[in-house]
Amino acid sequence: MKFDILTLFPAMFEGPLTESIIRRAAEKELVDIRVHNIRDYATDRHQVVDDAPYGGGDGMVMKVEPLAACIEAVKRERPAARVILTTPRGRTFKHEVARELSREAELILICGRYEGVDERVRELFVDDELSIGDFVLTGGELAAMVMVDAIVRFIPGVLGSAGSVETDSFADGLLEYPQYTRPAEFRGLRVPDVLLSGNHAEVSRWRRCKSLEKTRIERPDLLVEQVVTPSDRAYLAE
Ligand code: SAM
Repeated sequence: MKFDILTLFPAMFEGPLTESIIRRAAEKELVDIRVHNIRDYATDRHQVVDDAPYGGGDGMVMKVEPLAACIEAVKRERPAARVILTTPRGRTFKHEVARELSREAELILICGRYEGVDERVRELFVDDELSIGDFVLTGGELAAMVMVDAIVRFIPGVLGSAGSVETDSFADGLLEYPQYTRPAEFRGLRVPDVLLSGNHAEVSRWRRCKSLEKTRIERPDLLVEQVVTPSDRAYLAE
């Protein structure tokens, strides 16, 4: 899968997307992440990329011309790429959105700065506006990194034995159960006996109950009809 990230701060991507699972995915050629500096596409002498907003107000707005030139240059190589604008005004980026986007062959992610990008960028080029949550970041770079990281995990072969997207939180609609590893006791806190029992049916049941319990406390909004089974219902009624 190919990612093209458009940013005014390419150096921000040097660490986070070149380590660990994503680095190995790139080495296996499962992902190819390229970062483009939008400023390189500004044609005036000072390479200006922002200007004051029409109508007045605080801050600056990212100009349409450098962004348009940058998007068009990338699109020449990736004509079918889906273009995503990172913005707090977008639909929320969730587990299912990450899964859906992982089926794309090519994605272009635009990182905004200042007060955001000229609206005509959205009108002309953007397929999807995505927000990583109801808060405002200083720029779209961290949002883009979050999206790439979450999407890449769904690409077959990326996680290998490092984990499974099928048992993660949200995969079955619930938050994940608690996890433990050795030692079996630490500072008086023992790992629940059922996890040491070797009884897989009991372990599964315990995990499902703990998932339901955690979800009911932290995210009751997730306990919708499609997720809760009849035996879950009996447990929740207890
Ligand atoms: N004035 C904008 C507004 O109120 O909607 C916020 C602009 S923000 C300071 C600058 C850039 O950060 C945005 O253009 C966007 O690319 C990025 N950004 C900020 N918060 C975000 C979020 N929750 N999700 C995704 N991107 C975000």
